[in-house]
Amino acid sequence: MGTKKRYSGYRSFDYLQATRDFREFELIEGQSPFEPYLLPVTEQQQARVDELAERLLMISLHEHPHLFPADLADMATYDKQARIATAYEALAGSCWDCVFDNFQNGTNFITSKGGWKWSDVIYDMGMRLCDLAHQDFLIKCETVDDMHRAHREGRIALVAAQEGAMMIENELDRIEILYGIGLRVLGITYSESNALGTGLKEDGDGGLTAFGRKAVARMNEVGMAIDCAHCSDQTIIDTAAVSAKPIFLTHTGARALWDIRRLAPDEAIRAVADKGGVIGIEAAPHTTVTERHRRHNLESFMEHFEYVRDLVGIDHVAFGPDTLYGDHVGLHHVYAAALSIDASHEGGGSAKAGPVHEPVEYVQGVENPTESSWNILRWLVSHDVSDADIEKVVGGNIVRVLGEAWQ
Ligand SMILES: [Zn+2]
Repeated sequence: MGTKKRYSGYRSFDYLQATRDFREFELIEGQSPFEPYLLPVTEQQQARVDELAERLLMISLHEHPHLFPADLADMATYDKQARIATAYEALAGSCWDCVFDNFQNGTNFITSKGGWKWSDVIYDMGMRLCDLAHQDFLIKCETVDDMHRAHREGRIALVAAQEGAMMIENELDRIEILYGIGLRVLGITYSESNALGTGLKEDGDGGLTAFGRKAVARMNEVGMAIDCAHCSDQTIIDTAAVSAKPIFLTHTGARALWDIRRLAPDEAIRAVADKGGVIGIEAAPHTTVTERHRRHNLESFMEHFEYVRDLVGIDHVAFGPDTLYGDHVGLHHVYAAALSIDASHEGGGSAKAGPVHEPVEYVQGVENPTESSWNILRWLVSHDVSDADIEKVVGGNIVRVLGEAWQ
């Protein structure tokens, strides 16, 4: 049922009345503001793409499948209201059976300027999950069975994730409260350090703290999957060593191909894979660039996939494209400080200056969750990857990790 989605027209907050109950914004309704791109394939390859999309359980390990204001000037007010619309209709055009949703992440400023406040995160999650409870297309995903059910029923399972644990401060019990609400993946740090460990933007690297080790143990016990995508190198390595269960780098790439802090060095990728974990390949603008493709696009993104696959094996790689339905590059400009954009693009080694990418307005072929779902399959099929290997990288590997991490 992966391609026959059962979407019946619900739009976010249809159960209330716009203007009377909340301020309505003009949103980009899922149609890309940029030129759509589908990787060309032969007729025979197209048939194989369609068959795989229908049969396989397809999971994106990291997305932001929300609707964003058409006018970037509205972005801050829209985010502050924290009534974020989910992209139900647009997702119905994808072949994902499951997407990991990261809520407002670093752009949640309901009551603060710095973000990541406990009460604001609860507000954001509660509001989005209330909306989710009023429709019958997306499933609030809390178990692997929910993913299979979504695939069977032509629906999409939405996994609640948070990219950093700043909001738990020094309170271990908050891990359980978040789990109780429905959270199933928690990042150790966002780019900035917190009580658990060092984030990727810092110059010094203290790795995981004593409190961070306790938090990892609590997450293991509770059944909360762990993500280190925004952690420093040492925090990734420490977390992989300390965790009793496999962990994720939900959205990253290979620093060996493009030397920026946002991407992971071989040593950290190996540490995660050695623990049985999975590395999801990232596609947010200006991240998974390569020397061969300084213009970020589907090809450079897939070059990172091939590199990680060759480094640690087909069982440890997946896709976490980290895309959205809107102007992602524009969003990076509005929220450059909150999202640590500049620091993320600094050099990963001792040199502060990172390599120079060719600026793009959008990432051709991997610009939103719908486009990425189809182009990942098209690329894999057009490069003669076997059915068995495709099944692993589009979902099977993630399910294997969750089989342990969610226990
Ligand atoms: Zn991220």
